[in-house]
Amino acid sequence: MTDRLQEVLTDVDAELRESADWGHVATYIPELARVPLHQLAIAVATADGRLITAGDADTRFSIQSVSKVFALALALGRSGDQLWTRVGREPSGSAFNSIVQLEYERGIPRNPFINAGAIVTTDEILGGRPPREALAELLTFVRTAAGDDAIYINEAVATSEKAHGHRNAALANFLYACGNLKNPPEMTLGTYFHQCAIEMTAKQLALAGRFLIAAPGMPRLVSKARLRRLCAVMLTCGHYDASGDFAFRVGLPGKSGVGGGILAIVPGQASVAVWSPGLNANGNSKLGTEAMERVAARMDWSVF
Ligand code: GLN
Repeated sequence: MTDRLQEVLTDVDAELRESADWGHVATYIPELARVPLHQLAIAVATADGRLITAGDADTRFSIQSVSKVFALALALGRSGDQLWTRVGREPSGSAFNSIVQLEYERGIPRNPFINAGAIVTTDEILGGRPPREALAELLTFVRTAAGDDAIYINEAVATSEKAHGHRNAALANFLYACGNLKNPPEMTLGTYFHQCAIEMTAKQLALAGRFLIAAPGMPRLVSKARLRRLCAVMLTCGHYDASGDFAFRVGLPGKSGVGGGILAIVPGQASVAVWSPGLNANGNSKLGTEAMERVAARMDWSVF
């Protein structure tokens, strides 16, 4: 499979570099707005222990909402299924930072991957501890998953998120008002902003996703039963209001971030990370999604 996989990644990278439209980088914070647009990375970690890459796979990027997968895995590990009393597992059909459903749902966010749900998940991880401790545990989780200690939080990105995070602050305050935050909103928010500011390369992200493959020899950080559920939520909710489109086009559980990264899982076979900072209208990586689509089709990877 390896030679074929390398050929596919090299071809897809070369084809997409010819694209006329690379989307638009996120502009809500200066740190993301100044990332050069014309970058593309594909990395695949396979269940038989290989790491195959193409493009800018050694360039660090802000993983942003991809961090919500690691946070959810950690929160479920700490608290078990009672987390589901605080956050649902239905696709929202709304944008990642939507506030409108929260009032109808009485402060129980639709799922852990929209911002409101991720803020609740982070609050669960905090559990009354100082943010530093919770973030250290999350970083340890990610580093252990990747088998690489050189994964850090970009403080400038976290600070900037805080300075521009009025909408997230509104979500956190509303959750608090509904009794669905256990910690002061500013504490949970600060932790959430730091979690989103984790930086990784596509190589590191593909490696960090191996625990979701559920195959012998892969890092065992979560029980197999829970992995199936994590992947189910990725498939149904991982791309916000474009989750159906991603399932239709790619056919794999995936999670995107506004930094342009996407992590997708081929159960039993591979963890796939792509990154291209230009986003489409739904706030998901434009060429990253196209890369996923082409790689999955050519490798005949799908959960269906
Ligand atoms: N930090 C971003 C936010 O909270 C993450 C959103 C995303 O990646 N879609 O707005």
